[in-house]
Amino acid sequence: MYHHIGDWGPSNPGWSDWVVKPADFAQQLDWLKSNGYHTITFRELLADRQAGRVPAPKSVIISFDDGWSYQGVVIHQELEPRGMRGVLFVYPGAIARTPNGGGYISWLELLDLEANGSEVQSHTLTHPRLTDVQQPALDRELRESRAIIEAQLGHPARVLAYPFGAHDEHVMQAAAAAGYDLAVRADAEHSATPDGLLRLPRIRVGYGEGLDVFKARMTQAELGVMGSNSGA
Ligand SMILES: [Zn+2]
Repeated sequence: MYHHIGDWGPSNPGWSDWVVKPADFAQQLDWLKSNGYHTITFRELLADRQAGRVPAPKSVIISFDDGWSYQGVVIHQELEPRGMRGVLFVYPGAIARTPNGGGYISWLELLDLEANGSEVQSHTLTHPRLTDVQQPALDRELRESRAIIEAQLGHPARVLAYPFGAHDEHVMQAAAAAGYDLAVRADAEHSATPDGLLRLPRIRVGYGEGLDVFKARMTQAELGVMGSNSGA
């Protein structure tokens, strides 16, 4: 799970979990590639699940949250030349009307990224902390985001990233009722609640973490996947 790729982490200590240096990011991608990992999308993961298949070994999903314009540039410049694809979790409340707006990404840019194999999925409508949102607003956040993404991009958007990772049983039930097949957290911590398709963990890559930390996180994640029997 990535958010920002940039060099401005140290002056913003609170952001150290949300920013990765460009040089570190490139090194992480090179390590994945040279160690036999290949990128898949959530749609492919879901298709595997629905067919009763386990994803191929060394499958990895590289996700970016929030829909910043330069995340598209990063995918074009860093992922695509390495034969990799990404997944962008966007919220339609902040999508630019025109490309190169400098802030949020536009639908045209998202269409272009999808034409090259990357995937766009839902990060709600306006990015609230869903555990604080009451019905019917909760349902609107979940359903309208899906509907707008599906209308703009022409494919089902049945995967959700909880803003801030905030979710509970009530939010998970609302997500399922709104038509999501799969939802992801913003962490990979162990908890008493079993991991299922509506609370899949993600590995958070932090600022200034060397390749040794990244490798350790990947290894732990693989052991976690192999050691758990997370059902739907
Ligand atoms: Zn977010």
